Amino acid sequence: MTSKTPAPAVRTGAATVYGYPRQGPNRELKKAVEGYWKGRVGADTLRETARDLRRANWQQLADAGITEVPTGDFSYYDHVLDTSVMVGAVPARHRAAVAADALDGYFAMARGTQEVAPLEMTKWFDTNYHYLVPELGPDTVFTADSSRQVAEFEEARALGHTARPVLVGPVTYLLLAKPAPGVAAGFDPLALLDRLLPVYARVLADLRAAGAEWVQLDEPALVQDRTPAELNAAARAYRELGGAADRPRLLVASYFDRLGEALAVLAKTPVDGLALDFTGAAAANLDDLAAVGGLPGKRLVAGVVNGRNIWINDLEKSLGTLGTLLGLAGSVDVAASCSLLHVPLDASAERDIDPQVRRWLAFARQKTAEIATLARGLARGTDAITAELAANRADLASRARSCVTRDPAVRTRTAAVTDADGRRSRPYEQRAGAQRARLGLPLLPTTTIGSFPQTAELRTARADLRAGRTDTAGYEDRIKAEIREVLAFQEKAGIDVLVHGEPERGDMVQYFAEQLTGYLATQHGWVQSYGTRYVRPPVLAGDVSRPDPMTVRWTTYAQSQTAKPVKGMLTGPVTMLAWSFVRDDQPLADTARQVALALRDEVHDLEAAGTCVIQVDEPALRETLPLRGADHAAYLSWATEAFRLTTAGARPDTQIHTHMCYAEFGDIIGAIGDLDADVISLEAARSHMQVAGELSGAGYPREVGPGVWDIHSPRIPSVEEAAALLRKGLGAIPAERLWVNPDCGLKTRAWPETRASLENLVEAARRVRAEA
Ligand code: GLN
Ligand code: ZN
Repeated sequence: MTSKTPAPAVRTGAATVYGYPRQGPNRELKKAVEGYWKGRVGADTLRETARDLRRANWQQLADAGITEVPTGDFSYYDHVLDTSVMVGAVPARHRAAVAADALDGYFAMARGTQEVAPLEMTKWFDTNYHYLVPELGPDTVFTADSSRQVAEFEEARALGHTARPVLVGPVTYLLLAKPAPGVAAGFDPLALLDRLLPVYARVLADLRAAGAEWVQLDEPALVQDRTPAELNAAARAYRELGGAADRPRLLVASYFDRLGEALAVLAKTPVDGLALDFTGAAAANLDDLAAVGGLPGKRLVAGVVNGRNIWINDLEKSLGTLGTLLGLAGSVDVAASCSLLHVPLDASAERDIDPQVRRWLAFARQKTAEIATLARGLARGTDAITAELAANRADLASRARSCVTRDPAVRTRTAAVTDADGRRSRPYEQRAGAQRARLGLPLLPTTTIGSFPQTAELRTARADLRAGRTDTAGYEDRIKAEIREVLAFQEKAGIDVLVHGEPERGDMVQYFAEQLTGYLATQHGWVQSYGTRYVRPPVLAGDVSRPDPMTVRWTTYAQSQTAKPVKGMLTGPVTMLAWSFVRDDQPLADTARQVALALRDEVHDLEAAGTCVIQVDEPALRETLPLRGADHAAYLSWATEAFRLTTAGARPDTQIHTHMCYAEFGDIIGAIGDLDADVISLEAARSHMQVAGELSGAGYPREVGPGVWDIHSPRIPSVEEAAALLRKGLGAIPAERLWVNPDCGLKTRAWPETRASLENLVEAARRVRAEA
């Protein structure tokens, strides 16, 4: 085999993907990894399970007609962590563990140990996947370890597959990194690029030597707004890697949005191909590509099948796009827009979904078939895929016509919405007076965010109900007993605005999705959230309405047990969308408006039942922010409108609360004002009340509860610690508008620290009240 860079090959119509769900059909990987952690599964067995899963995935891809399979996308935990290992960026605190045992050291970086903290985890762009943040500093020394990449490539090749290793690209890797602990916050990891490039060049050369013809470098960070310096770094990186001798052909992949300015930058480098997303907002890549004169002589991999949603493709439309692209590049291949990691494995496993509706769904397995069909159509003409096109046309038509997707009553109602529907009947100042009179709360009122500890017993009760081991009456008695206990504790602790504790909710989105029309639940639709944690997002398939009240009986039951006000608790429209698979056949804004109207009915019914405080949680408002700044305003406009549509029908003396977590609110401070909520509680303990200052700086006029207890850890804040945070809050928000609460819901906490912490919070409020 020659180690020279191969001559460019022009061919069109390969079918490929960038990554595939890792867990296996029955979450075998989760079981093996967790078994390994518990010492029940040996390292060899874990490795064997992983190898079997990779082999099965490649075979499944090949059988579906994928002609070029990815390697290196598999991971025991996270592919960004794997990249840190590949470039030798192991934090000092984990080095001993890694030296003692590579696998245990790897998991120590991912999860921490008794002695050392793990790497920080954060969201992968605007998906619900979380990666481990590389920690770098001026002293970081990179060293190449291509062993895993080479081994997996060789594994696939030995099985007879044409394989393409996939790596996180060097620019994205650095842009996702943060300064290591102890390094000045001003340190820019991108400054390490020149040190990192030789390491990537080494890995590429090793892969070439192993026989890799193409290697993919993922640069999704380039779809975000980038400074000229960052774009220059990208240009430099790919000039250098493209200029190396003995390299494989390089395919630079981007996804999740349009490449924008980075497109022209990358097109000018000596890389051999680009992979672009052509779905959703990223469809703008088509015009951008034409504007830069296309990619003559280069390979274009066209992501025309949406890799992060679960709907069937419009094959004719995609063929149209592919046809246009043929004139713009040396060769055109077909792919999903991004790794299929973000979708569940197989829609055909969903036996409980109406077969007619199931035909509209495409999970990873169905998507690979679509990609293969499109590639065949592209290479051989549409005559080669007539049957597939006819079936696709019929499925799309059935979806468009169905009474699931189109409910005339919902459409009439949404069309009739006016601006006035999204405005409270009185301005905040008047509402605040009316609420004060009705609620009679002390200065610095105390409350919680909604959930109380979800004990194993509660989860068992829910599982028993689902399995038919308990009847509804038995289950409801159990929930009521829990509510009484939660209320009794809050009364005793002296909390001012009580909650019922949300014991009836397994998940804050799923609970509502199960009761709204238009939502489907899946049985096996697991997607990786992080590590071995998988979630099963509901599918928002059709027009949304609320046939019956969803929370009223629990809230009123709780209120019947106490003289103090009990907060009604709802999940807001944006969060209902963000943590679901949403429909792609209408603008998100329209879907949000439907959900908002359904929730508005719930607000109305709660109010009619005597509830005087209602909280509408929007923890996902910030995370759904589009990747490009130019798109922020349009998003925030419909998102805040949906919140107001949910809440604005409330009487002036009904106090509307909202809640958000995730410590950075800088980008949405203005939008928080546009919600027009009477009270907002926010995560603030870890950032030392930063958000209170940001809100007051922006002239925020309403009430604020910046969290004074970081609930992400079992640590109990002392009275003085909470009081100090409150005093800090008072520096920004006047006492008449400051609330006292934890950072977030308590469902992941245990009772002992919950009791102690809340008692301390109440005491801190008393102490600071006395000083005021
Ligand atoms: N009310 C919810 C709870 O307390 C809010 C959760 C959240 O913000 N993620 O659990
Ligand atoms: Zn929260």
